[in-house]
Amino acid sequence: MAHTKSNPYLELIEIPAGYLNIMGYVDESEVNGPGCRAVVWVQGCSRECSSCFNPASWPFAINELIAIDSLAHKILSNPRNEGVTFSGGEPFWQAPALAQLARQLKSHGLNVMSFTGFTLEQLRSPYGPAGAQDLLGQLDLLIDGPYVESLAIHRPDSLVSSSNQQVHIFNPAMRDRLTWASDQIEIHVLKDGSRIVTGYHGQVNLTE
Ligand code: SF4
Repeated sequence: MAHTKSNPYLELIEIPAGYLNIMGYVDESEVNGPGCRAVVWVQGCSRECSSCFNPASWPFAINELIAIDSLAHKILSNPRNEGVTFSGGEPFWQAPALAQLARQLKSHGLNVMSFTGFTLEQLRSPYGPAGAQDLLGQLDLLIDGPYVESLAIHRPDSLVSSSNQQVHIFNPAMRDRLTWASDQIEIHVLKDGSRIVTGYHGQVNLTE
């Protein structure tokens, strides 16, 4: 009998079926995974890692609800997005919805990568978050483990932000695509003049 873990914070929040609660989104990022890709930052993380660069993603309260179908359409409508990266917040607390999104994108040939503060072993255990196996089954790449400040790596050639984190390659075709650097920063200026700063620790800062 499975004993998947439920999140007491999420139980208090109503995310309608078919929707994700996200913190942010960007197209054409080149510092959050292989090549040029969309990034979805989900809302909600309970880890409170010291020096987290994205503490605004911690609350589980509704930030922005977006229908999975709309998000898939948005990602696919930009032909420069060859894949998508799920970051956070903790993607695996919204694993069932992200698995649904991933399925739609993969059917159009995109690759899918996710960060997580869980270890792969925790995700695969019977006590992992609900839907974790389903999401893992859709991933080409996973970077697991929380950010640990005392183990931080500040090198332009490092794929991970702290040495406890690991890159798991589920799709062998991605083996020669491990070219990003977690220490790089990217600034996106959007049409409305707002800016998104991303890349460092795989996180995002949204500024008006
Ligand atoms: S670094 Fe990541 S796992 Fe840690 S608190 Fe921040 S969002 Fe959560």
